[in-house]
Amino acid sequence: MRPALLDPLFAPLNSLPGIGPKAGELYARLLGRESIDDCRVIDLVFHAPHSLIDRRHQPGIARAPQGVIVTITGRVDRHQPPPPRTSQPYRVFLHDDTGELALTFFRVKGNWLEKALPIDETVTVSGKVDWFNGRPSMVHPDYMVRATEAENLPLVEPIYPLTAGLSARILRKAVEAALPRIPDFPEWIEEALMQKQGFQSARDCFLALHDPRDETDLDPQAPARRRLAYDEFLAGQLSLSLVRQRLRKVAGIPVHATGKLSKPVLAALPFSLTGSQTVAIDEVLRDMAGTERMLRLLQGDVGSGKTAVALMSMLAAVEAGGQAVLMAPTEILARQHFATLSKMAAPAGIAIDVLTGRTKGRERDAILERIASGETQIVIGTHALFQDTVVYSNLLLAVVDEQHRFGVHQRLRLTAKGISPHMLVMTATPIPRTLVLAAFGDMDVSKLTEKPAGRKPIQTVTVSTERTGEIVARLRTALAEGKKAYWICPLVEESEASDLMSADERFQSLDKQFGPTVGLVHGRMNGAEKDAVMLAFKNGDIRLLVATTVVEVGVDVPDATIMVIEHAERFGLAQLHQLRGRVGRGDEASTCILLYKGPLSENGRARLSILRDTEDGFLIAEEDLKLRGEGELLGTRQSGTPGFRIASLEAHGDLLEIARKDAAYVIERDPDLTTERGEALRTLLYLHRRDEAIRFLRAG
Ligand code: ADP
Ligand code: MG
Repeated sequence: MRPALLDPLFAPLNSLPGIGPKAGELYARLLGRESIDDCRVIDLVFHAPHSLIDRRHQPGIARAPQGVIVTITGRVDRHQPPPPRTSQPYRVFLHDDTGELALTFFRVKGNWLEKALPIDETVTVSGKVDWFNGRPSMVHPDYMVRATEAENLPLVEPIYPLTAGLSARILRKAVEAALPRIPDFPEWIEEALMQKQGFQSARDCFLALHDPRDETDLDPQAPARRRLAYDEFLAGQLSLSLVRQRLRKVAGIPVHATGKLSKPVLAALPFSLTGSQTVAIDEVLRDMAGTERMLRLLQGDVGSGKTAVALMSMLAAVEAGGQAVLMAPTEILARQHFATLSKMAAPAGIAIDVLTGRTKGRERDAILERIASGETQIVIGTHALFQDTVVYSNLLLAVVDEQHRFGVHQRLRLTAKGISPHMLVMTATPIPRTLVLAAFGDMDVSKLTEKPAGRKPIQTVTVSTERTGEIVARLRTALAEGKKAYWICPLVEESEASDLMSADERFQSLDKQFGPTVGLVHGRMNGAEKDAVMLAFKNGDIRLLVATTVVEVGVDVPDATIMVIEHAERFGLAQLHQLRGRVGRGDEASTCILLYKGPLSENGRARLSILRDTEDGFLIAEEDLKLRGEGELLGTRQSGTPGFRIASLEAHGDLLEIARKDAAYVIERDPDLTTERGEALRTLLYLHRRDEAIRFLRAG
């Protein structure tokens, strides 16, 4: 149960004044929630200002600088309403010891100015001063109060990130109403660390967050922000540790590989494993043989041969008399894995099935039955693998391909189903260590650092779209020589509809020039259509494949050697690297052409040149992190994993490390969070909506 202390913060957001149904939608968008029903007061408390307006500057009228916000106190001398039926403004003049200021108002209705600014009254006004012909004026002051009430005027105002349609003033009102709901929290940070870091209480930090006095308070290194960042990391690390501990505790069916199946499969492979594939397989087999449930991340750059590692691991599960699943992020990938793995595993003579959202009717029933009876030994598929209707006979291993599209949530769902197989998650996005820690906790990691032998480097060039004609001409030659090429088009907008358009347009134009060797694949096609096109590309009926990013991950056509990426400047670095990884997979030299639309920003230029200069995915990922920030790299956008609200890995990396150690310490001493500090930490977990981790506490 959430502590009652937090109730005021977890009241619906629209219980705050000024948040009606219309504004609700805007707030949901602003706070990154699905709908207003999912927004709580706490979400607004975490909404940090990014700048401020300083009204403390009170230079006097004559010394007020042009275009700068100042606060002026003076005496009202006269009103000058505009002549009737003109568009001239209404002016009110006031003076102080240094000079005269005109307050200027357009389209004034009624007599409210006479009431607000009575003659002879001393008033305080705040706003931007404009000088014209040596005379200062202030157009529509932000604030006007009687001087006696000047203390009510906010001299420093926080400015918040907004979304179109939401006014700053209304948002600030809502924040002001939210802040008094922050209770005194029990302290969850240890005294020694509080001292060492100079942390204030969490409540004080929230209040300080929303009450910046100057620029330094807005800096990520401001003490209040550091403490809140630490809390965020600690909540994250703690919940990951709890989940992980729980996942570990549950299982541990030792899997003993016999080699009976893997030996013949290995012998029949057209290549020998790389050193790092062998090491990774050893690590996996050792984990699975133990009494603890395996939770291992396999990182390997595109084309490093993760599939073979997955297969050997799955064969071990089958050798031990169990089943294994391989979950892919897309239909195309699942079908492709099925095709490749069926072929690779043929010498083992085992039963492999594929199950996706597209598997329907009688075929589906038959497969479900085979899975339930244990007849099917390896199943390959998409999310459909973990629907309630799928019952396994003896699932020993789950392999998740392209982890960055999944997250902790999927893992939780699996466990919630009551199955607890060993887990191998594979990612081609080389995630820097700090990010692995932040996103997945202290997962064991195997890395494929070598590329399979005989790979030729990919030559990468950047070319302006103005020279598209030349590229098409070169393609013509290459296709005539029997080569295969991809032509990737970006999403024009966020929406799928325009994605379709741009790839479609490119297809039309290339189709006109090259005829039937050109194919098109995009996310809006149905599965069977996609498969047909991919198959045609694989077997050579199609030799120029126009595609959207559906081919981004995993697609394997080893004799494709040319990759053209149109509007490369619109893609993330990691994504470009992934796309490029679709070529250079065979023994032929490959080329990647990054077509960009100039002029490029400095950042855009830097990004493309990184890609041109290196094929090292880790290096690219690190640079990407520097240039874009962590959210994009982790693909949190796609998966909806809540990112960090205040903490930033770049600014607070040192704190993450401390939080990780702290969480480990807590889990070791107080695994059920029952001590006084443990109780306080539960409050922290709820505060950060890490409820699912708490569920594990109760269950375990
Ligand atoms: P990824 O890590 O991107 O998933 P894949 O598993 O799809 O890579 O492998 C890419 C290609 O390399 C495939 O065609 C695969 O058959 C081949 N491959 C895998 N391991 C080796 C190896 N040790 N030597 C040569 N080729 C290999
Ligand atoms: Mg792969």
